[in-house]
Amino acid sequence: MSGRTHKLYDQDSHLYTFTATVESCEKTEHGFTLVLDRTAFFPEGGGQESDCGTLNGISVKDVRIQDGIIFHDTEESIPTGMKVIGVVDEKIRFARMQMHSAEHILSGLAFKHFGCDNVGFHLTDKWCTMDWNRVLTRDQLNRLESEANQIVASNLDVTARYPSPSELKQISYRSKIELTEDVRLVCINGVDVCACCAPHVNKTGEIGLIKILDFQHYKGGVRVFMVAGRAALEDYRLRYENAYAVSGLLSAPQDKITQAVQLHLQSEAELKMENNVLRKKIAELLTNDLLNRENAGPVLCLVLPFCEMNTLRSSVNELTQKTGKPVCGLCQNPDGSYAFIIGHPKGGLKALLPDIMKQLNGKGGGSDVMVQGTIASTPDVCEKVINQAFSQFLKETE
Ligand SMILES: [Zn+2]
Repeated sequence: MSGRTHKLYDQDSHLYTFTATVESCEKTEHGFTLVLDRTAFFPEGGGQESDCGTLNGISVKDVRIQDGIIFHDTEESIPTGMKVIGVVDEKIRFARMQMHSAEHILSGLAFKHFGCDNVGFHLTDKWCTMDWNRVLTRDQLNRLESEANQIVASNLDVTARYPSPSELKQISYRSKIELTEDVRLVCINGVDVCACCAPHVNKTGEIGLIKILDFQHYKGGVRVFMVAGRAALEDYRLRYENAYAVSGLLSAPQDKITQAVQLHLQSEAELKMENNVLRKKIAELLTNDLLNRENAGPVLCLVLPFCEMNTLRSSVNELTQKTGKPVCGLCQNPDGSYAFIIGHPKGGLKALLPDIMKQLNGKGGGSDVMVQGTIASTPDVCEKVINQAFSQFLKETE
């Protein structure tokens, strides 16, 4: 092995096809790892994932760097000494360069205007996050976003170079960590100088739209979510499709969908309130109706399938207080089964309940004057069983 791998992406970030010679190929647990004399594959580093692509048509699964040597993980072996043609996935690499260069612009502006240091950076294929060590407002972020897009429109040069140690001492640049040797500076003409090992666009115009999405307070500063270039276009497409669909569903213009949703939610809340009032009214009418009806058995059975338990409980309480009779109220659960509440002011329910539950295939419990639970039977069957049980019980106790 002749030492460090020659990084072709350092000189030309737009080189996607290259030739190289295999210097070593070793078997690993999951395949093979190859070292080439030179490569255009960017290894994982600085918050950016490694490039993907092929070597002689064989898929490159991962690329790592250690002590200046770049390792390419493949599923198949390629003999040492063989010439290979490497192809880097251009679409993915270019989209990542768009986002990474956009990050340099925004972090450079955040440093320049607000003294923010970039303390974290993570790049995915859909968005990237930047962690800045000061809290910024949405207005301040908007200002950075506008200026960043202006820099894109100005189509400035983006260059990368390794200054000598003495030259480096004279240059002020941003860096996440203290570096002493092999410092690679990425310079956006007149905007930013930052230590970075990754490939970047050649001109800021290649970046396309830069859009800041959300931000959140993070470790005393802010974490900012951002999209740029192709990721920004895909993000816009997705948001547009959603806005288009919501606009259609609400028959509202796209720029008025927030107000339309607010109106919709307000009217839903009003309908819910109205619905509750009506349900209570119906419960009242049915309760009064039961009071005026001749009953076949000793128990008043109140069936209110549409009511919730609180309304049912107050209706059962009202009936027991007015009549002094045992009352069984039923309402329907979302799964179709029935919930019941039985009230009897003279007590004795605890002794009666087990037999009633057995016959109705139910479960329940409570006090001697009020029990509640769920049954798997219909209201008709329930009425019959409860009346039978109470007839017997009342006969024995009177
Ligand atoms: Zn960077």
